[in-house]
Amino acid sequence: MRQTEDFRSEQVRGVICYIGIGSNQERPLDQCREAVRRIADGSSMTLLRCSSFYRTEPVGFVDQEDFVNAVAEVRTVLTARALLQALQQIETEMGRVRTTRWGPRIIDLDILLFGQEVVQEGDLVIPHPELHRRRFVLVPLNELASYVIHPSFGVSIQGLMQRLQDESRVERIV
Ligand code: AMP
Repeated sequence: MRQTEDFRSEQVRGVICYIGIGSNQERPLDQCREAVRRIADGSSMTLLRCSSFYRTEPVGFVDQEDFVNAVAEVRTVLTARALLQALQQIETEMGRVRTTRWGPRIIDLDILLFGQEVVQEGDLVIPHPELHRRRFVLVPLNELASYVIHPSFGVSIQGLMQRLQDESRVERIV
């Protein structure tokens, strides 16, 4: 009985987070799948679900290749900052070189939501500050978590979708 309780509490430890995944270089769909594989293989987080993959029009710096975007739902016992470091390590191992903001990238991993935590630090902002403005983020996030409340706005992901002004192209590919 004792063992069963421990097992159960082990199952529910940690925070559910949503990670935005994007790539527009070197077979972007493969890069996104590889990132999901690395997230799933990591000992510090458990992959719960992954959205479909979408081909999306670049926003901001528009003169570049289309992106592939997806969202992963994970459970982690890491702090938000440690999760950021773990994701940056995956980016580096996959060959990410930091160039222009909004520019081409082999892989981009963003913490969109970290449970209901709100973080406002120079180099870490959660919920991700672009989450509610970007169709390429909200469409895959809405697939997994339409009911989740954005902790700063008190509006569900579905509600943010209904208020979205970004009309850029987001096409489901697989
Ligand atoms: P990007 O070009 O999108 O990869 O931005 C990377 C920078 O954004 C990193 O230096 C992070 O410290 C910072 N950053 C701030 N908030 C977040 C977040 N929620 N998820 C990922 N990176 C973040």
